[in-house]
Amino acid sequence: MSKIKLTFPDDSVKEFDEGTTTLDVAKSISTSLGKKAVAGKLNDTLVDLERPIKQDAKIEIVTAEDSEDAQKVLRNTAALVFAAAAKSFKEDLHFGEKQANDDGFYVDTDSKSGQISVDQLKEISALMNKIIKNNDKIERSMMDKNGLEAMFKDDPYKSSLVSAIESVQIPVYTLDGFVDFGYDAVLTNLKALKHFELLSVAGAYWQGKSSNPMLQRIYATAFYKEDALKADLKRRAEIKERDHRTIGRDLDLFFVDPEVGAGLPYWMPNGATIRRVIERYIIDKEVAWGYQHVYTPILMNLNAYKTSGHWEHYREDMFPPMDMGDGEMLELRPMNCPSHIQIYNHHNRSYRDLPLRIAELGMMHRYEKSGALSGLQRVREMTLNDGHTFVALDQIQEEFKRTLQLMVEVYKDFDINDYTFRLSYRDPANTAKYFDDDEMWNKSQSMLKGAMDDLGLKYYEAEGEAAFYGPKLDVQTKTALGNEETLSTIQLDFMQPEKFQLTYVGADGQDHRPVMIHRGIVSTMERFIAYLIEIYKGAFPTWLAPKQVRIIPVNQKLHSDYANEVLAELRAKNIRAEVDDRDEKMGYKIRDSQTMKIPYTIVVGDDETKNATVSVRKYGEEDSESENAKMFVDSVVADIANYSRK
Ligand code: ATP
Ligand code: ZN
Repeated sequence: MSKIKLTFPDDSVKEFDEGTTTLDVAKSISTSLGKKAVAGKLNDTLVDLERPIKQDAKIEIVTAEDSEDAQKVLRNTAALVFAAAAKSFKEDLHFGEKQANDDGFYVDTDSKSGQISVDQLKEISALMNKIIKNNDKIERSMMDKNGLEAMFKDDPYKSSLVSAIESVQIPVYTLDGFVDFGYDAVLTNLKALKHFELLSVAGAYWQGKSSNPMLQRIYATAFYKEDALKADLKRRAEIKERDHRTIGRDLDLFFVDPEVGAGLPYWMPNGATIRRVIERYIIDKEVAWGYQHVYTPILMNLNAYKTSGHWEHYREDMFPPMDMGDGEMLELRPMNCPSHIQIYNHHNRSYRDLPLRIAELGMMHRYEKSGALSGLQRVREMTLNDGHTFVALDQIQEEFKRTLQLMVEVYKDFDINDYTFRLSYRDPANTAKYFDDDEMWNKSQSMLKGAMDDLGLKYYEAEGEAAFYGPKLDVQTKTALGNEETLSTIQLDFMQPEKFQLTYVGADGQDHRPVMIHRGIVSTMERFIAYLIEIYKGAFPTWLAPKQVRIIPVNQKLHSDYANEVLAELRAKNIRAEVDDRDEKMGYKIRDSQTMKIPYTIVVGDDETKNATVSVRKYGEEDSESENAKMFVDSVVADIANYSRK
């Protein structure tokens, strides 16, 4: 029998008979390794333990203690057991794509007789346990592609998946009469599959294309150890509790309905209130910091975006232009810079005008990929707290610092503490995305870095994250789902002033070219509010809460007049208050006020009416306190004025 050479991770090389398996190799090293092994890795590709090895290769033995690979094998196995169980539960079930990764696994399913519901997951889970308890063996065999194609010829999804496979010989797995393929490695023994959970059901287009049929994606996870599963389920529950999409629905803040437009959010009165407060806040703040707020149109002649470079470098993110039929092409703006450049250019500018700070809550449209859209975090229509400062060369450093100071001040008011700075550079190889001018990039990147170093701030550097026109300082935060997203951004731009031929008259009487600093402090209203919802878990501080005080009369008939008196006093001070005059029990109303996370719930009954007091219960607290009504109103006013979190 011929021999093959296997190279181990420590670079040692051993000879084995051709056709040996990873399991044989593991056993030859030690009995315990033979027991622990769950799969092999041949030349960095995961393979079944029992797969015959036919050529020299680099080998790694994956054990259950290994992290991601071992987990993948377990989750592949769980996906196979799930599919076998689901098929026995629903005979006409078809399977689309599946994936096991470090977050769990999913399997796409489809059925003419109705989709799998969340309630049915329990039943399928029980069937899975039955298969595992029987310790049915997973039979592995190799089939040639033609045979497999013939086998699945009546299954639209499987036949398409088979034809996409490149190899001629394909590993096929049979469990309990159910045949499947498309797993890189599965466990031989089902005993290790004890701790799994079928988590949720969601719609997913076949192969991710929105023109394809919608399938049901079943999300699940599996671990080798019970503790790990428990910790993961706890983590998921916490994420759910913070997820701005869930809270947005529960508190009736906003909705996005793909039927009327994916990525196009509708702000309900509660969400609109939060947004209005933030918009007023940031405009006032910026005016105090020397910005001049403007309004500019969301439509612009396409030529402006050709001049600016957007058409050349940013077209993929833009909605297609509107051909007006008379030669005019209009474009929905993806950024506000060219608009603010028009404002700059409307007058002759002199060095005395600089720094000129133009700001706007500018609505923009970007054609984000449908798979990337997420609640308010990533949308296709958004309003950016945008600002463009036009400065002279020697003002860059100072203005950059000032912008950072403004940002820090604003973050304090919103109690935002968990963020990192990212210096975003271009990728020099990507000339399609980035404006091609080495000198300009080198100069502006080192200026930004210099400013950060001068300020002594910690940052990390990322290539390929710059805007097409210049480098950025991005403020990175984490979403509840664990993704990193940019909140604030400050960007340096030598290019657009050049393209639009911007000038100012210097003290020397000569024309000079200004530099632009683009900046968003609270980012887009959409992303910022998504972020706030998550950090506050929906319990907005009083100044931002859509409803600040809810008044509950103990008895509708007896106490309603007094309740309305208190209401009038609160409203006179611009406090967002309401009386809950629904025909419900008091206990229910108090609970409902807590569920809606209203900062103050006040109850008024006989004593309160008689003594001009209110019984106050703060959100999240168990006890209530009696307070003089007027003093209560004053304390809410102070709470709002201080942006206080408690
Ligand atoms: P990203 O890398 O997040 O796509 P970007 O670098 O394209 O953003 P900029 O052009 O700098 O973004 O836009 C300014 C700010 O607008 C970003 O920092 C971000 O906070 C916000 N933003 C960008 N795209 C979206 C979007 N699709 N939905 C909501 N907010 C967004
Ligand atoms: Zn800009």
